[in-house]
Amino acid sequence: MSKMKACVLYGPLDVRVQELQVPQLKPDQALVKVKAVGVCGSDVHYYEHGRIGRYVVEKPMILGHEAGGEVVAVGEAVTNLQVGQRVAIEPGVTCGKCKFCKEGRYNLCPDVEFLATPPYDGAFCEYLAMRADFLHPIPDHMSYEAASLAEPFSVGLHACRRAGVKPGDTVAVLGLGPVGLLTVVAAKAFGATKIIAADLAPIRLEMAKEMGATAVVNAQEQDVYKFIMQETGGLGVDAAIETAGSTATNLLAVQAARRGGKVALVGLPPNPEVPFNVFTIADGELDIFGIFRYANTYPTAVELLASGIASVEKLVTHRFTLDQAKDALDKARTDKQGSIKVMVNL
Ligand SMILES: [Zn+2]
Ligand SMILES: [Zn+2]
Repeated sequence: MSKMKACVLYGPLDVRVQELQVPQLKPDQALVKVKAVGVCGSDVHYYEHGRIGRYVVEKPMILGHEAGGEVVAVGEAVTNLQVGQRVAIEPGVTCGKCKFCKEGRYNLCPDVEFLATPPYDGAFCEYLAMRADFLHPIPDHMSYEAASLAEPFSVGLHACRRAGVKPGDTVAVLGLGPVGLLTVVAAKAFGATKIIAADLAPIRLEMAKEMGATAVVNAQEQDVYKFIMQETGGLGVDAAIETAGSTATNLLAVQAARRGGKVALVGLPPNPEVPFNVFTIADGELDIFGIFRYANTYPTAVELLASGIASVEKLVTHRFTLDQAKDALDKARTDKQGSIKVMVNL
């Protein structure tokens, strides 16, 4: 096996499935036969625009960073994995040496090599060489799709961890894309007993209930702020987690938190300047947390998903093969209301 198929992005709306060399292994890497890759909002963004902020696709790049697969070879220095092991792939390989890595906040590592973030290739391919300490074994009963969903789930876990969600808490999740829906699962895992979920799309609100939301509110039909206040006896929530990436939901997150509450900002609004009310924040002693990817979440994510905390495969609304990767990207791009997670299975 020296050649493999890969889906390569050449420019806006131009992806091609072609033959590439199977990557060579470094001593500390394992070769993974990719089995499932989720299409993420960032993949769609690169596919549509060729860039996200300061990250610009300057040469052909393989998309995809939410993946699970099977180990088919290990480098000579690898001791933690064996051929045949099924794994969830943590997509950001960090240096392990800088201040941020040493602090355990390796998501902030300036030298991170993150799959499908230029200039690094991603996982829409048959074989991936990854440093072995970023491959997390999954049990036999856990699906490769669930392994790939450990990636967006990790964002939700990281947000709940940063916001200190604890047993008995009330949490609002604003925005119910895959990250928002998996944040609902994370909040439940952290012991939140009241989880209020808001979105505009009925399909996502229904799914939020399946994932463990105790109350859902359609922002197109109701005033979400009023709804949250009613649900919390006028107090506000212990933690408000924003995943929609709009100005309105950022403002709402700060409004919806109780005095002394926490706010976690996950989504990136198109215009990052958001006019927060400083009085609300200072007078209410709100803690506001920025959330960038995640760190040290994969083992927890795998344990929780393997435990069956939620049937996360239900989030997969559309499935494609690698040869149909363009269709998968187009589905995610053009049917945001009708799709939740689009998956490529190999
Ligand atoms: Zn993602
Ligand atoms: Zn580092």
